[in-house]
Order: sequence, then C-alpha cells, then structure tokens
Amino acid sequence: MQAQDRHRVIAIDGPAASGKSSVARQLARRLGFVYVNSGAMYRAVTWSVLNSTIDPSDRPRIAELIATLSLGGVLRDRALHLLIDGVDLTGHLHEDRVNDEVSRVSTVPEVRNVLVARMRDYASKHDLVVEGRDIGSVVFSDTPYKFFIDASLKVRAQRRAAQGHRDEIARRDQADSSRAASPLFVAKDAEVIDTSHLTVDAVVDEIVKRLRAKNLKI
Ligand code: C5P
Repeated sequence: MQAQDRHRVIAIDGPAASGKSSVARQLARRLGFVYVNSGAMYRAVTWSVLNSTIDPSDRPRIAELIATLSLGGVLRDRALHLLIDGVDLTGHLHEDRVNDEVSRVSTVPEVRNVLVARMRDYASKHDLVVEGRDIGSVVFSDTPYKFFIDASLKVRAQRRAAQGHRDEIARRDQADSSRAASPLFVAKDAEVIDTSHLTVDAVVDEIVKRLRAKNLKI
C-alpha cells in the first residue's frame, strides 16, 4: 500500500518494556488518532495457539491455524483490539505462558503476513499510532513519522516488575532482534528517544514537537 492510499501513521518501535505502550496510547489520545498495539495482536495469536492442541514449536501447524482463525477488529476507547473468532482476548495477553511463547510464535512468517495485512487495513480507515517492533522498518516503512523508544535494560526490568508481571525481557529482546523475519532494529530514518529518565508526558511532548517540525498537521 502506498502512503497516498492510506491515512497518516505514526510508528513507535522499541524493545520490551521501553515505555512505548504508554507513550503510544497517550500520543494517540493527544492527536485524536487511533491506537494500535501490534504486540497485543501477536500475543492474541499466541494465546490461541496455547489454547489449542498445537505445540508452540510446530510452525507448520501454527501456519495452518492462522489461516483458519477468523480475525476482526473492534474500536474501544479509540484503540483497535483484535478479535479472534469474535473474542477480545485482552484480559489474557500478559499471562506468563504468553510472555514465554510470544517471541517464538511471532517468528512464523504466515502469522506476520496476516497481522501485517490487518494493520494496513486499519490504516486505510483511520489515522493511526502503531507500536511494535517492525512498524517503521517493515509494516509502514514509508511513513515519515517514525520513532524508536528505548530505555536501559535496568529501567525496563524495573518498569515491568512494577506492573507485576514476570517477563524475561532480555531473552525476548535477544529473540526479537536476532530472528530472520522482521527483526527489531532501529530503522535508518527513525528518531531515537531514550526514555530512561523521562516521564511519559515528557516523551509525548517531545514527539509532538518533532512531529510539528515535520509539518504533520495536528
Ligand atoms: O510489545 P510486546 O512486548 O507486547 O510484544 C510482544 C512480542 O510480540 C514481542 O516480544 C515480539 O516477539 C512480538 N512482536 C513482533 N512484532 C511486533 C510487535 C510485537 O514480533 N510488531
């Protein structure tokens, strides 16, 4: 899809627990754009795999499963939630077993193809703030509005622990950065913001300032 065929997209990428969800959600609210958490989409598919009889290492069967799932989207509070067979799995997405398997399931190319197509479909209908790992590098590589949100591993581990989740973020970062399909990396034209010592408000202010400098009409 060419940029002129879709609405405006702001891409927010970064490693696990970098603060990108809080920043992306608040930025979308501030701009009146729709928020899309692509990690939640990969988590929902992972939950579906774990809830089936399929072994999460069985890539051919995961590819078959994704082809049979009925995927939809529902807009709630200006955020798009993925529905799988009509069900919003939001309440299950941070279960330990999902944390443990999501990086593996998300390496299956058929899973990525289906979810990327959904995100592009969303962008044909709404102005979006989309957060993830490959949004500026692959999914919407032609958007001029791309940011890479980072923070030190220590700060990120503290943030995740404060949310009460067990999540091996260093292991996920390693898996996400070293995989063959759409690995996590800083797109060459992305603007990097280190949030280690910044509040969410301060990061959002900074992004809005940079978007204005890029002449985004907001
Ligand atoms: O953002 P979050 O930490 O919830 O993402 C969960 C996982 O989903 C990541 O660790 C990664 O394996 C996968 N993911 C991905 N591509 C994206 C977003 C998330 O592969 N665009």
